[in-house]
Amino acid sequence: MRIVPHWINGGRVEGAGERRLPVWDPATGEQQAAVVAATDAEVRAAVQAALDAQPKWRAASLSRRAEVMFRFRDLVDSGRKEIATLLSAEHGKTVADAAGEVARGLENAEFAAGAPHLLKGGYSEQAATGVDVYSIRQPLGVVAGITPFNFPAMVPMWMFCNALVAGNAFVLKPSEKDPSVSLLLADLLRRAGLPDGAFNVVQGDKSAVDALIADPDVRALSFVGSTPVARAIYEAGTRAGKRVQALGGAKNHMVVLPDADVDAAADAAVSAGYGSAGERCMAVSVVVAVGSAGDALVPAIASRLGKIRVGPASDPDAEMGPLITREHRDRVASYLSAGELVVDGRDHPATDGPGFFLGPSLVDNVDVGSTLYTDEIFGPVLSVVRVETYDEALKLVNDNPYGNGTAIFTRDGGAARRFQYDAVCGMVGVNVPIPVPVAYYSFGGWKASLFGDLHMYGPEGLQFYTRTKVVTSRWPTEPPKIKSETTSEVDLGFPKVR
Ligand code: NAD
Repeated sequence: MRIVPHWINGGRVEGAGERRLPVWDPATGEQQAAVVAATDAEVRAAVQAALDAQPKWRAASLSRRAEVMFRFRDLVDSGRKEIATLLSAEHGKTVADAAGEVARGLENAEFAAGAPHLLKGGYSEQAATGVDVYSIRQPLGVVAGITPFNFPAMVPMWMFCNALVAGNAFVLKPSEKDPSVSLLLADLLRRAGLPDGAFNVVQGDKSAVDALIADPDVRALSFVGSTPVARAIYEAGTRAGKRVQALGGAKNHMVVLPDADVDAAADAAVSAGYGSAGERCMAVSVVVAVGSAGDALVPAIASRLGKIRVGPASDPDAEMGPLITREHRDRVASYLSAGELVVDGRDHPATDGPGFFLGPSLVDNVDVGSTLYTDEIFGPVLSVVRVETYDEALKLVNDNPYGNGTAIFTRDGGAARRFQYDAVCGMVGVNVPIPVPVAYYSFGGWKASLFGDLHMYGPEGLQFYTRTKVVTSRWPTEPPKIKSETTSEVDLGFPKVR
């Protein structure tokens, strides 16, 4: 059985722990590898390696750090196929979808390469007579990232590109379900010129995360995953005095007004609802059809579902792969008893084999009190809720405990403008179903989709991984005078600037 190692101090390290976690091949249902959960000593070794490497890496010039990021970007770019194929083999998503993930991850290396400009501070000359004040941004030290299974390449890149270029050292704890791509990224960082120890990977699950939280040398934690874990990590991390940003789950609503282009809305709902088998935090899971919109939209969505090719990532024509584990597939399927089942993915021929497949499912007239509506399903199931008015649709979006993304489909600019203004969500799409911001904005939800203040990647990511120091300085411009007691300038009053 292939064992997935850690990456500590610039190389692979076999885990010495006793607890083994399976890595499945979701397309065949067979175990393909095992993760040896990191021991506390191994987590400590990774943190120590980061601690030892960080001062030297921080001392590297900004242009040197940016150069490493440029090189990393080029290596990821030329290794796209290899990364996407490895990623698909463990996650199950199609290779084309995985390549898209790698491309979106790459944007973060491109953004981070601009850090010399972005990390500039401010300077105020003559804040008081002969006194200048300026601000500088400095790294935090050793920071850690804990990432989910659904984007094993992109989400780590959301974090470590900015963290590293700002002069921090990084410890990644990837998902134990698809851990191998993290090692490939570690190797590319090494080849790009990152010093040994500046980037480390510890494999495992909760116990490795607990060791990172308990370690006083870890200054900040970035987390992406489900809401209960995000909340727990935010609470434990901040209690331990760390800076924490913890992104949680989602229930993204796509509001369709009666004037929307039905085909465009149906294409968008299908792409955003079933892409990556619905295992995306920005997947559309609820279509809110306003007024008569549902009458044409539901058949239009249903007609598209039969054409989706469900199959393993190894099938170049497949458009939708399996779910991550059997347990998760069964859990998703268990929701298919509420509402009016228009298309039942349990009947799909792909479910006959041993892989963790579930066909695309569509449920109309879903009751907002049902668990199908209230739970994050994270699978290829689209619920349609019908309402009479825009205000009812908006209320659903805003009353939902999650606030990751939402979208409106309409031809009415005024309605779209109103929605953008009113929606209590971190990311809004206007005729765009998955409004994942480009890397020079930041990604983050509101409400139970994010614990912490700063969103991830982009400008807020750089802010998260740095702290500001303000220097107030006075340099004598004249030669020192010999002062007598009577000319002393001691002043016990509070410093004034005017
Ligand atoms: P998860 O919460 O189960 O696991 C995420 C990470 O936390 C993994 O590395 C896992 O090993 C670790 N973990 C799990 N349980 C833990 C515990 N009790 N204590 C400490 N660490 C623990 O999430 P997942 O199933 O890997 O990913 C799917 C979830 O992630 C969905 O809820 C999805 O919406 C969410 N997600 C959110 C975003 C976002 O940007 N908001 C992006 C991607 C995924």
